[in-house]
Amino acid sequence: PVHPLLEKTRRSADLYEEAAHWMPGGITANIKHFHPYPVFMHSASGAWLYDVDGNDYLDYNLCYGALMLGHGHSRVMEAVQKQLEQMGTPIFGTPHRLEVEMAKKLAGLIPGVEAVRFTNSGTEATLFALRLARAWSGKGKVAKFEGHYHGGYDRVLVSVTAEKRRKGMPPKVLPDSLGLPEEIQEQTVVLPFNDWETAEPILDRHHKELGAVILEPVQAGFIPPDPEFLQKLREYTASHGIPLIFDEVKTGFRMGLSGAQGRYGVTPDLTALGKVLGGGFPVGAVGGCREIMELASPVRSGDILGGDQKAKGADVLFHSGTYNGHPTVLAAGLATIGILEEEGVFAEVERTTYKLRRGMEEVLRRADFSVQTVGEGTIFNLIFDDQPVRDAQDLLRSDVALRRRLDHYLLEKGIYLKPVNRFSLSTSHKDAEVAETLTRFEAGVNQLKKG
Ligand code: PMP
Repeated sequence: PVHPLLEKTRRSADLYEEAAHWMPGGITANIKHFHPYPVFMHSASGAWLYDVDGNDYLDYNLCYGALMLGHGHSRVMEAVQKQLEQMGTPIFGTPHRLEVEMAKKLAGLIPGVEAVRFTNSGTEATLFALRLARAWSGKGKVAKFEGHYHGGYDRVLVSVTAEKRRKGMPPKVLPDSLGLPEEIQEQTVVLPFNDWETAEPILDRHHKELGAVILEPVQAGFIPPDPEFLQKLREYTASHGIPLIFDEVKTGFRMGLSGAQGRYGVTPDLTALGKVLGGGFPVGAVGGCREIMELASPVRSGDILGGDQKAKGADVLFHSGTYNGHPTVLAAGLATIGILEEEGVFAEVERTTYKLRRGMEEVLRRADFSVQTVGEGTIFNLIFDDQPVRDAQDLLRSDVALRRRLDHYLLEKGIYLKPVNRFSLSTSHKDAEVAETLTRFEAGVNQLKKG
């Protein structure tokens, strides 16, 4: 018999067959791979996705967390239309008013941000932040954390996936892709998250060569930091002259308006942003203290004619991009932030998130599964394990095969997720959507139990 999911997604199967001919794996990003094939969507509204076969799904992927207002919020759609009409073009390729407005907005909301540069993705944001940090410190090595993701380029594609190690042992530097140059591993120091006792001696061994320390303040958006851990890292990096970078691509405008840094009261030197900031359009930004950010200014040494005059000598820090500060993107982002700034909006999404978490835990407990939700604010994950989850090592204990099977049933029942991954909520996920989700969830869990 054909599995019910395959039965109801035949048009996706057909499209996938064609897609696989023209694009490796039939997808444009490896994370979009879904066994046995991904579902192709046709339209979306609020908390809902509709596929090419006419099935509906409650969306908890939300474009990997980017859609904090859900799909097609009227004020975001209007802001985009207005930008296109009023400016008469998607992009001038020159400075414009919205850049200034957004830069001021970020500086006003996020503690570590005094000045800003825009990019087109979170990947570019962390790349530029690392370059700024190395330029300021004059040192080349980068320390990152086991299990932390910062984008898809060579320098940070190490030890995003973790291998089991004995507690107290330093994490290994493991490549996450084919084709990485070997030097990358020599240039990178990997630290354990939430484990200062193990992290500090590693930092002591390398601090003289470290040009930057980068981390996700909330690992993968759902494993909260021990606030003392963040504090110790802040003190250590400050006292050794190493710029500390918070990658808030995922946590920015999700852990509240001031990011994880506001939530935990620890201020980094540089902050990478993305996702929610673009209101559904491609975006990234780097913000930070003026002293470091100003390294990117071509007028720094009185060169008022601009960067080209200096391009031959490397006394200017390079940062460019055809689409940086795209007006359509910033219009969508400003509209999004405007809504999130309204009284009680964040608190309401957090409230529905907790309601959903508690509801799911109850359903799973009734079905006798050993499971927990782990998360913070508007993001959480379901972990089939009952021990505390504080880092990538703890995640290795959980029953991923069981979770994969559950996700398959959830998709069939109409709950859309990145497999074996987080749930993200939006302002469009109201009590009615949570109730409908729990009904579908229970049906999925019951099927899992039947085996
Ligand atoms: N950093 C973090 C913490 C992220 O979650 C992501 C995206 N998942 C990135 C960087 C990369 O951002 P992008 O996909 O926009 O390049």
